[in-house]
Amino acid sequence: MSINAERCWDAVLRRDAAEDGRFIVGVITTGIYCKPSCPSRRPLRKNVRFYTSPQEAERDGLRPCLRCCPLSADDPAVARIRALCAYIEEHSGESVTLEDLGHRGGLSPYHLQRTFKSVVGVTPKQYLNACRMGSFKEQLRAGKSVTEAIYEAGYGSSSRLYERSGASLGMKPREYRNGADRLAIRYAVHQTGAGLMLVAATGRGVCAVEFGDSPEELERSLREEYPAAEITAIHPPYAEPFRQWLADLSRQVNGAQPARQLPLDVRVSAFRAKVYEQLRAIPAGETRSYSEVAAAIGRPSATRAVARACATNPVAVTVPCHRVVRRNGDMGGYRWGIDRKRKLLDAEAAMLKR
Ligand SMILES: [Zn+2]
Repeated sequence: MSINAERCWDAVLRRDAAEDGRFIVGVITTGIYCKPSCPSRRPLRKNVRFYTSPQEAERDGLRPCLRCCPLSADDPAVARIRALCAYIEEHSGESVTLEDLGHRGGLSPYHLQRTFKSVVGVTPKQYLNACRMGSFKEQLRAGKSVTEAIYEAGYGSSSRLYERSGASLGMKPREYRNGADRLAIRYAVHQTGAGLMLVAATGRGVCAVEFGDSPEELERSLREEYPAAEITAIHPPYAEPFRQWLADLSRQVNGAQPARQLPLDVRVSAFRAKVYEQLRAIPAGETRSYSEVAAAIGRPSATRAVARACATNPVAVTVPCHRVVRRNGDMGGYRWGIDRKRKLLDAEAAMLKR
């Protein structure tokens, strides 16, 4: 079965239940896949991928959404867990205990833990923490103070948030808010062999490299990524070192091995930073599988997390996530479209033959 992305996106916008079962909507930034009619907030178009089956979405490292339950709507165990997820989302600002949840789901805490994990992929506690972290970040972006955001997100005290934020935020909450406020970002849009490329940088290094079809779409996406930053478009002639960075990136799009690694200024978790470092060590013209990358960073069972790190890479090309493919030689996914991934790999292969 082939997929018409335009039509699928249309169905998602209409939340068309008649399309349920015909295709699956994957959201690469949250790592979740949905039915077309899912009642959750609509994702951004650029973060969405369409699949013919849940299995295909799972191969890309995505988990089923518990709200719309794309796996099997009539499995009662799944339905119960789905109701619990909705409950957790609604009550993440309050205290939610395993006992509460077990009671609501008619399960012992032990069975709850197991069933929940097998359906959702994480424990109820982790799910709750993820909901809180999501709401916490939203509050900060909406301009709330750190203290307000902590309480509204349901963290009992600030120390509990700080304990957790290391892994998921990559920086202390206050820095996340203040840093984004003060951040000055310059960007340029440049035509390359793989289409329009946006390159954005702070004073410290490159913070975004994205491909897109129009300058407007690229700019919108940058503003969504850094809502509080001061963002300015710049035009040629570019000042150094921006000119050099842009020239290096353009050469790499055409297949060249970089002469030096560009300085990066991206805010990612320690895990993702490790994955990106590993990707930068793959020479142009070569590929690795997701599981090889996972093994190389000493986390052989983290293949899915590696796939997600690739799917949410903020800096195309300079972190060459296009060099990661499936073990069976399939292309795997690419945040900026599979055609671009193929183009980049072909360009590198051609450059090697010269
Ligand atoms: Zn959903």
